[in-house]
Amino acid sequence: MFKLFCYCFYIEIFGELNLVTSIEKTYIEKHKKCQENYFVSKGLFPNGVTHDSRNLEPFPYFVNRASGAYKWDIDGQKIIDYRGGHGALILGHCHPFVTKAVSDQLDIGTHYAASTDLEIRWASLVKELIPCFEKIRFTGSGTEATLMAFRMVRAYSGKTKIIKFKNHFHGWHDYVSKGIGGIPEEVMDTMITLPQNDIGLVEDTLKNSNDIAAIIIEPTGAHMGSDPVNPNFLKQLREITNQYGVILIFDEVVTGFRISKGGAQSYYGIIPDMCTLAKILGGGLPAGAVTGKSEIIDMIQLSDSSVYNRVKRVGHNGTFNANPLSAAAGCAALELVSSTPVNEIADKRSRQLKSGLNDVLSKLEIPGCASGIASAVFLRLGVEHECDKEVCILSENEQNKVEDSFLSHQMWLEMYNQGIDAGTRFIVNSVLSESDINETIEASEKALINIRQEGIL
Ligand code: PMP
Repeated sequence: MFKLFCYCFYIEIFGELNLVTSIEKTYIEKHKKCQENYFVSKGLFPNGVTHDSRNLEPFPYFVNRASGAYKWDIDGQKIIDYRGGHGALILGHCHPFVTKAVSDQLDIGTHYAASTDLEIRWASLVKELIPCFEKIRFTGSGTEATLMAFRMVRAYSGKTKIIKFKNHFHGWHDYVSKGIGGIPEEVMDTMITLPQNDIGLVEDTLKNSNDIAAIIIEPTGAHMGSDPVNPNFLKQLREITNQYGVILIFDEVVTGFRISKGGAQSYYGIIPDMCTLAKILGGGLPAGAVTGKSEIIDMIQLSDSSVYNRVKRVGHNGTFNANPLSAAAGCAALELVSSTPVNEIADKRSRQLKSGLNDVLSKLEIPGCASGIASAVFLRLGVEHECDKEVCILSENEQNKVEDSFLSHQMWLEMYNQGIDAGTRFIVNSVLSESDINETIEASEKALINIRQEGIL
């Protein structure tokens, strides 16, 4: 009976999605338990998943164990993990130093509803690493951090509008969400979206409005840096925001503690007025923060004036702000970032990966490149171009081509079939070994050959 039930769903999926490639068929063959789970999960969650980026056709994979550079799905397949907890895990899974800190903390309490030594240690580590730090407020996530940053800059400046850049991701609250269903137009009217890398347009916009509170940017570019920002644009943004008295926010949720120990601001030596942090900040547990100029962060500070507190002050609660478990994990992770060559190792593995992937592309005569800064590597397929393999800026047409979703989807499935969770985006951690990288390069070669055989590339 159960088999019949599964078969019906199988037919339904094949019918619905019109699956044709042998890559998809292999994925289905190899992941029967994942498929069975999906039959249940799709009745519980939209698309059967709990995060937009875990959507995968014909069905998502389910993982029940991880350690170091690897995770295992419920079909028992061992996977070299380049999704890295959506970017949070530069130390890989279950780093013993982090695990011990969390487990010790579990024994002595997970929530005191009180201030802690831990939060002081955590903030001090951020202060040591992040140049724009003057004061900090912890939040529960990166989304909360950018939301709080917006509220602070608006309260501080008395201005309403915020400039963001096309395809730059800053979380899912109303001001920045990718899907705009359910968001009042009045909210969207407070945001201005411009193309990145065009300083003339930014200047015109600043000239024509005196109601702009801030500019927010993913400092390495859209989609975690896969559509890169020109470093000169960052420099120009710093100059122009100084000139016009507009606050510059770097969203370092991904880049913080990754692009360098001190994030993109350290890497480029361009210091924003504020930055938002999350992911690595929490050492694999939920966390976020907004840090920067005291006078702006202090918009949260209570004053003696009840009128000020009511009409000007920024309010901020949040049950899990700086909670002891996240603080313990975050302190452990940042201590390792600060005192061991975590970033250097991840960067070295990334260079090995980029170089190997670029060799494969040349060997197979496939146009494209593997590029990216530090421990973020992006495989950009289908466009013939020259680049320095770091900041690879393409035209809009070329960018649209390398973002071809069918090709990336097939690449994701094909790499997964071979035990690599990456597709075209590799978030590299410091516990990957040289042989893991070699295995990944070999798998990529095989995947590209298979994809070409399917006529997709
Ligand atoms: N900003 C950036 C640059 C991000 O990449 C993300 C998450 N991927 C966020 C903000 C939102 O962070 P969170 O998922 O913790 O809410």
